[in-house]
Amino acid sequence: MRTRILGSGAGGGVPQWNCGCANCHAVRKGAPGIRARTQDSIAVSAKAGSWILCNTSPDIRQQIEAFSELHPRAPRHSPISAIVLTNGDLDHVLGLFSLRESYPLVVYATEAVRSGLVDHNVLMRTLERFEGQLTWRRLTLDVEVPVVGHDGQSTGVWVTARAVKGKVPVHLEGVAGHTEEDNVGLWLRDASGAVVAYVSAAAELEPIVPHVQGIEALLLDGTFWSSDELSAPGLAQSRAEDMAHLPIGGPHGSLSHAPRLSARQRIYTHINNTNPILVDGSEQRRALERAGFQLAWDGMDFGSAG
Ligand SMILES: [Zn+2]
Ligand SMILES: [Zn+2]
Repeated sequence: MRTRILGSGAGGGVPQWNCGCANCHAVRKGAPGIRARTQDSIAVSAKAGSWILCNTSPDIRQQIEAFSELHPRAPRHSPISAIVLTNGDLDHVLGLFSLRESYPLVVYATEAVRSGLVDHNVLMRTLERFEGQLTWRRLTLDVEVPVVGHDGQSTGVWVTARAVKGKVPVHLEGVAGHTEEDNVGLWLRDASGAVVAYVSAAAELEPIVPHVQGIEALLLDGTFWSSDELSAPGLAQSRAEDMAHLPIGGPHGSLSHAPRLSARQRIYTHINNTNPILVDGSEQRRALERAGFQLAWDGMDFGSAG
C-alpha cells in the first residue's frame, strides 16, 4: 500500500490566516528550516489509478493539484475512489463541499460522524443533486470492511475504525451528545497484510498501543508539544487536553510511550503551527528524532501500490 501525506498541519494549517506566532511569521517570510503545511489529510492506494482519501481538508483543492496522481484522466474523472472520515472536525470534513461538482462520492464514516454532518445541514444538499452523487457507508467500531469505490470495484484496501478518545466537533457542542464514535483511528490494510494506522487526533494512547505492534506505519497526533502551548503565550484559553490532543512532550506525553508504539515507521502528523517540532534542529525536533519518530510533511510518500 502506498501512503501519501497530503496535509500534515492541524486545523488552520501553517501559516494560519490570523496567526502571527514565530512559526507562522517564519513561514510567511520564507525563513529556512520551516515549511508551510496544509490541513490534515492522507491518501492511500493499493491499486494503480485508485486512491482513498482519509479526511477531506479545507485545502483539498490545493492538495489534489499538488499531487499529479490525483488528477483526472478524462474530461470528467477522478482517481479518488472513496473517502474515509476520522471525525467531524471542520479541518477534516470541510473539503467534502469543495467536491460538489457533480461527481459520485462514496464516504465511509461512523454513524455519529455522518449524522453530525448531515442533520440540519442545508449545505449537504449541494452533494445530493442527483441520485448516487453521495453514498454513505457505515464504519462500525472494530469491524474491518472492504473499501469499495463509487464504481463498485474493490480498492484493494480494508479499513477498521477504532474508537480513540476525542470530542464532539466544536460546532456540535451542546447539540449532539458524546459517543465513542465521535473520533476514530483508521487501520488501513492491503491484500499483502501491510497495515498503516492513521490516528490524527488522540487524547490518549491506551486504545492504540495493542494494535500497532509490527505494523508498517503509525501516523500519530502531533498537534501540540506541550499542554500549555496555546494558553501560555495567550493565544487561547484551552489546554491541549481540552482539545482532545495528547501533547507530544512532558512526562506523560506521547513520546514517553515511544517504546510501546512499535510500528516500523512512526510519524507525527496534524501539527499545529505553534509546535516547536516544526523548526529543523529545534530541541523538541531532536528529541522526537532520537526516539525514532519522523515528522510528516506535505508530499511525504512511502510504500508502494499493488
Ligand atoms: Zn484536526
Ligand atoms: Zn501560528
